[in-house]
Amino acid sequence: MQRIGIFGGTFDPPHIGHVAVACAAVDAFALDAVWWMPVGHQPLKSRPPSASYAQRLAMVQLTCEMDPRFSASNADAPRSDGQANYTVDLLQALAAEHPDCAWWNIVGADSFLDLLRWKQPERLLELAEWIVVSRPGFELSKIASMGLTPRQRERVHLLAEVDVPVSATALREALARGERPVAIPSRVLKFIEEQALYR
Ligand code: ATP
Repeated sequence: MQRIGIFGGTFDPPHIGHVAVACAAVDAFALDAVWWMPVGHQPLKSRPPSASYAQRLAMVQLTCEMDPRFSASNADAPRSDGQANYTVDLLQALAAEHPDCAWWNIVGADSFLDLLRWKQPERLLELAEWIVVSRPGFELSKIASMGLTPRQRERVHLLAEVDVPVSATALREALARGERPVAIPSRVLKFIEEQALYR
């Protein structure tokens, strides 16, 4: 059975924090692959992304060239009915399409601590194992107060050694000031400049 990591995000733009998360997860849990999935319309973010879906997918493709175990997937593309994308629908569709895979959903601590606001959190914890990666400013220990049952808690695997204080928001602001942040992979930075993004 293939062990597949799912790494969803806005990736507006992808950065070294994302790369550190995916590398740590693939190594620690002996995953066969990590499928990076830019989300079409993230229902919990208050602002729409700056870059288009096609641009975010292209930047993720460039980032995935860094490791043969990474690939970019359009499985969570914007929906044709204009509705938001929900992870529960994505994981259900993937399981139906690839019955021979075991799923590991990879998230940063900030995302997981927000899980109870997601659609059908109980179902989400049934559909995949969860890899929760540390992020500066967010306490992994707070997971203890989320009220998960022992059985749900068994589905959650912590990776506490990642410590990359980078966010896409701060990088968009730096780009808008005309900086060339080193926290963006160079091939992605080249794409951003060619497309005149985040100015
Ligand atoms: P923004 O600042 O625009 O909200 P972001 O930097 O948080 O973006 P996303 O694309 O929203 O990036 O994140 C995708 C996933 O990667 C989420 O699960 C998030 O928690 C995780 N992540 C992003 N940056 C880091 C980081 N520096 N350390 C750990 N996890 C991270």
